[in-house]
Amino acid sequence: MALPPRLARRLRSTRTWIALGVLAPAGMLALSGVMLLDLRRDAWDKADQTSRNLLQVIERDIARNVEIIDLGLRAAVDNLKVPGVAEATPALRRLILFDRAATARDMGDMFVLDENGDGVADAAQVPVRKVNYADRAYFQVHKARADLGLHISAPLVSRLTGARTIVLSRRIDKADGSFGGIALATLRLSYFRRMFDQIALGRDGAINLYERDGTRVMRPPYDEADIGVNIAGTENFDRFVRERAGTFVNRSVRDGIERHYAFTQVGEWPLLINVALSTREIEAEWRAKALVIGTIVLVLCGLTVLLSLLYGRDLRRRAALEAELARLSRTDPLTGLPNRRHFEQAFEDAWTTARRAGRPLALLVVDADHFKSCNDRHGHAVGDEVLKGLARGLSASVHRPGDLVARIGGEEFAVLLPDTDAEGGLRIAGRIHDAVATFGLPSAGIGPGGVTVSIGLGVSPVAGDTLRDDLYRRADAALYAAKGAGRNCTRAADADPGPLRLVGTLVGT
Ligand code: GH3
Ligand code: MG
Ligand code: MG
Repeated sequence: MALPPRLARRLRSTRTWIALGVLAPAGMLALSGVMLLDLRRDAWDKADQTSRNLLQVIERDIARNVEIIDLGLRAAVDNLKVPGVAEATPALRRLILFDRAATARDMGDMFVLDENGDGVADAAQVPVRKVNYADRAYFQVHKARADLGLHISAPLVSRLTGARTIVLSRRIDKADGSFGGIALATLRLSYFRRMFDQIALGRDGAINLYERDGTRVMRPPYDEADIGVNIAGTENFDRFVRERAGTFVNRSVRDGIERHYAFTQVGEWPLLINVALSTREIEAEWRAKALVIGTIVLVLCGLTVLLSLLYGRDLRRRAALEAELARLSRTDPLTGLPNRRHFEQAFEDAWTTARRAGRPLALLVVDADHFKSCNDRHGHAVGDEVLKGLARGLSASVHRPGDLVARIGGEEFAVLLPDTDAEGGLRIAGRIHDAVATFGLPSAGIGPGGVTVSIGLGVSPVAGDTLRDDLYRRADAALYAAKGAGRNCTRAADADPGPLRLVGTLVGT
C-alpha cells in the first residue's frame, strides 16, 4: 500500500526520525516507570495485608490465653471469699479455688500466696509445695498497690521448674481491704516461642511481644539476649504505646534494619505486639523484577535512539549526496560553470520574473572565435585550458548576485543579466572582450589577445516577444551577425522584433 505523499515526506525527514527516536523511548520509559511503581505498590500492599492478618491472629490467640488464665485467677480470688474455704481440707480447698483454672500446655503453676508470700494453695498438688515469693517484684507491687488488676511480670526463671516464664497475678484483699496475698499463674515463654517459630517472616522479619513498660517478652528467632530487654523511651516504642494499633516504617533500635511495623495492644492486657517485615525483603522480589524490566527497557530505548540516530544520519548523508548529485547534474565538469540544463532553468525563472516585474532582461551569447583552428593548432588539451580561461574571464566580468554565466555548448557561453537594459548589456560585453583580451597561455604559445570571442546581445522585453526562446533567438542572431562582422565584437539585436536589425556596436578590434 502506497503511503500518502505528505506522510512519506515526513518519514523521509531527519527531524521526524530524531523526534521519533526521542519520543518513543521517552514514552517507553514513562510507561515502564508507571508499571514498576505500580508493582512496587502491590508489593507493599501485600506486605501490609500479610502483617496485619498475622498480627490479628497472634493477638487473638495471646489475648484469649491471657483471658483464660485471668479467669482462673479471678475465680481463685473470688472463691477465697466463699465461707468455709479457709476451714476446708487442703484437697477440698484446691478444688474450690482452682475449679476454673486452665491446665493447658505451657500454662505452668498456679498458687495462692498469703500476705507473707507463702504458698497456701497449689493448683497442681496437695499438700501445697513449699514456696515463698515475697521477694518477687510482682508480689511487692501488689502489696504496695491495691488497684493493679491483672499484673504481668517481666520474664523470669521459675524457681520450681527452671523454665522461662512470665507470672500473671492478682491481689487478694482481706475483708478490711488490707493486703491478703496474691493469686498467681505462670505462663511459659515456650508458648510464645512455639507460636512465633511457626511463622516465616524472611531473614530480617520479626515479631516482638512487649510488656507495656517496654520489656521484651519474646522475639523470634529466639535469642536469650533479646528476652527481658527494655526498649521504653525509644521512638518506635513510644508510637506503639501512644497509637495502640497501626503501621509505620522505621529503623529498628535493636539492629538498625528498616522495617514495616504492624502493631497492636493485646486485648485489654498490658501487652504490645508487632509484626515487623524488613523493607528490603518486602521489595526484594520487586527489585529483581524491576532490574530485569528496567534493563530490558533501557537497552530497547538505547537501541531505538541509536537506530534513529543512525537512520537520521543516513538520511542526512543521502540528502547531502542527492544535493551534490543535483549540483553536479547542473554543473559543467570542465569549467565548473552552470551547464546548459542549469541555464535553461535559470533563463526560464529570470524570464518569468522580468515579465512579472516589467523589468528588462539582457542575454549575451558568447562564442569563441575560430576555436576549431585553436584546437587543431594546439591540441584538444590546450583547447580545454582556453575554455577554462574563458570561463574565468566571463565570470570575472559580472558582479551582480542575479547574474549567471553558463557554458551552454562546446565553446559557447551564455550570460544572463536580469534587470539590465541594452546599454548595460553592451557594457558587460565590453568587459568580457577586455577580460578575454588579457588571457594568454604562455606554455602553449598563446599570448594576450590570442583568443577572441564574438558576442550577441538580446534584451527583453520587446514588443511581440512572447517566449523566452524569442529572446534567445535574437541574441543568437546577433552573435551570428557579430561573426559575420569579422568576429571579436558584439552585436546587439534590435529591440524591434521585425527583421533583425543590428545596432552596430563594435567592441574590441
Ligand atoms: P567560429 O569562429 O565560427 O565560431 O569558428 P569555430 O571554429 O569556433 O566554430 P565551430 O563551431 O566550427 O567549432 C567549434 C569547435 O570547438 C569544435 C570543437 O572542436 C571545439 N570544441 C567544442 N567543445 C570543445 C571542448 O570541450 N574542448 C575543446 N578543446 N574543444 C571543443
Ligand atoms: Mg560555436
Ligand atoms: Mg566558435
